[in-house]
Amino acid sequence: SDILRLEGVGKTYGKDGPAPVEVLRGLNLAVSRGEVVALVAPSGAGKSTLLHIAGLLDTPDTGRVILNGRDMTGLPDKARTEARRAELGFVYQFHHLLPEFTAAENIILPQLANGVPQRDAARRAEDLLGRVGLSPRADHRPAALSGGEQQRVAFCRALANQPALLLADEPTGNLDPETSDRVFGMLVTLVRETGLSALIATHNHDLAARMDRIVRLHQTVA
Ligand code: ADP
Ligand code: ADP
Repeated sequence: SDILRLEGVGKTYGKDGPAPVEVLRGLNLAVSRGEVVALVAPSGAGKSTLLHIAGLLDTPDTGRVILNGRDMTGLPDKARTEARRAELGFVYQFHHLLPEFTAAENIILPQLANGVPQRDAARRAEDLLGRVGLSPRADHRPAALSGGEQQRVAFCRALANQPALLLADEPTGNLDPETSDRVFGMLVTLVRETGLSALIATHNHDLAARMDRIVRLHQTVA
């Protein structure tokens, strides 16, 4: 069974204006349970648009988005927001950690917001930080961490609420090549160990080759 299905998804920006930009046309994409899929696209091909649609942050003009067996097309914003919180984890190129909180707190807070008891949330943060080799950094604030360490904390935070699907946009894109390689490996291991599914966008073909499958996005011919 598929955790995510995009069926016939189309998206055009500025449809009613003088210069419409068709980004996606009839896109079909499925991520099955436990699968780690790489999304490789030249700049401008619609990678961010696709991730926004899969992440329920934007709606397609045509087609359907089916998340964990549920058709999200046409659902009201509130239901989409709830589904996003319950089913999805996000990682971006920049970590977006809260600067005034420690690494552990950054992983605990989203769990508390989801109703997880403090003790369980703290235990899960500890477990996740251990898996990426950051137990000694649990009480450090983001500013005291290296770029690679900050990104590893962001991975843990994305997985804190045990999402069904992880969506990542160039998750190691701001790191030097060597660190990127190492930290990316940790992300893939973390996803596999926790039995998660993931759609991970990257420009790096070596990194993409480490995943179960590669989906390439082409520029639509306008
Ligand atoms: P990528 O992430 O692959 O670089 P994007 O999905 O960001 O591509 O954008 C794909 C194309 O759509 C680009 O040509 C971009 O300029 C255009 N685009 C993106 N967002 C908008 C928008 N809000 N309004 C108009 N054009 C947009
Ligand atoms: P192939 O080139 O062998 O068809 P790819 O891995 O390159 O396979 O593409 C994956 C799928 O995504 C293909 O079905 C392709 O047609 C589709 N696709 C790629 N880019 C777009 C796009 N911008 N809009 C809609 N579908 C796309």
